[in-house]
Amino acid sequence: MTSTSLPTPWVRPPDGVPGGGGLVDRHGRVATDLRVSLTDRCNLRCSYCMPPEGLAWLPKVEVLSDEEIARLVRIGVEQLGIREVRFTGGEPLLRPGLVGIVAAAAALHPRPEVSLTTNAIGLARVAPALAAAGLDRINVSLDTLDPERFRQLAHRDRLDDVLAGLRAAKDAGLTPVKVNAVLLRGINEADAVPLLDFCLAHGYQLRFIEQMPLDAHHAWTRGEMVTAEAILEQLSAAHTLVPDHEERGSAPAERWLVDGGPATVGVIASVTRAFCGACDRTRLTADGQVRNCLFAREESDLRTPMREGASDDELAERWRIATLGKLPGHGIDDPSFLQPTRPMSAIGG
Ligand code: SAM
Ligand code: SF4
Repeated sequence: MTSTSLPTPWVRPPDGVPGGGGLVDRHGRVATDLRVSLTDRCNLRCSYCMPPEGLAWLPKVEVLSDEEIARLVRIGVEQLGIREVRFTGGEPLLRPGLVGIVAAAAALHPRPEVSLTTNAIGLARVAPALAAAGLDRINVSLDTLDPERFRQLAHRDRLDDVLAGLRAAKDAGLTPVKVNAVLLRGINEADAVPLLDFCLAHGYQLRFIEQMPLDAHHAWTRGEMVTAEAILEQLSAAHTLVPDHEERGSAPAERWLVDGGPATVGVIASVTRAFCGACDRTRLTADGQVRNCLFAREESDLRTPMREGASDDELAERWRIATLGKLPGHGIDDPSFLQPTRPMSAIGG
């Protein structure tokens, strides 16, 4: 794991670096959307993310406490212009303090939008508490409706738990419930239409995500991935799709109205139609490292200075400096592209 070598204790930022303001990079992008990974652990083993045997989990002492997470989120919102906070992982529902972490984020001023990305295992139990704590929106990952393919893809027999979690999210008012699906060649590539029909029937908003080179095995290949074009071709064979011209802004999903609307389907073509130029994300890993991009090969440590007594201002300045060096694009198509050392589960998707 590489880390930028910011010395501790904190030193003044280099000349030309503003001593205040938001998270601006050298290409003029401003990060306002914070993704916080609450744990690197997970109870599934989706093959595009984690190996069946699991990974060497972060030692507990390295994982931020609930209070440390709440503090960094507060600094992001109060000092750095963060307007959306999404909790993810690993599987964020495995974090015992999740409801309190959500409540702390939702109590901030200005109030950020607070959301969660989850595999929904166990959500049936906690959805009402999460909604009461102030959770605004939820994304549930679901790649197939076939129990056997689910087991093959995620190495666990938990489809029923996911479906129960989805229902509970809707019942708790966490709407519109979004469903994220990744298609893998030879496993669930034919599931696009059944997933869309299911989401249309239940009022869930479906978005397909192109598989990215973030698997622990480094087995991803450009030639094997199911492209946005292939997904749209399948969907168009069963439904009429018309581009939804509502302003996309920095939202990664391109959307289509299905059969005249109002239902839509989204495709996040992170690989074949990259949207790095409009990226407004910044990421915090479960062990307190700032990543300015999913594909960054460098991280900036906030945990060590925080535990050594750094002030809010010092931590905010470190976060700004970490943002400055964000690369213009992920470079997946570049022959020199190198996959990040951490897989998706340890970065926070
Ligand atoms: N465990 C939670 C879940 O699955 O929703 C949250 C963490 S997961 C890493 C977040 C999202 O990343 C999921 O929607 C998952 O499908 C997606 N994801 C994981 N690995 C991916 C990859 N290699 N390419 C594209 N999406 C990926
Ligand atoms: Fe777990 Fe989510 Fe990765 Fe699947 S995608 S293994 S549910 S972290």
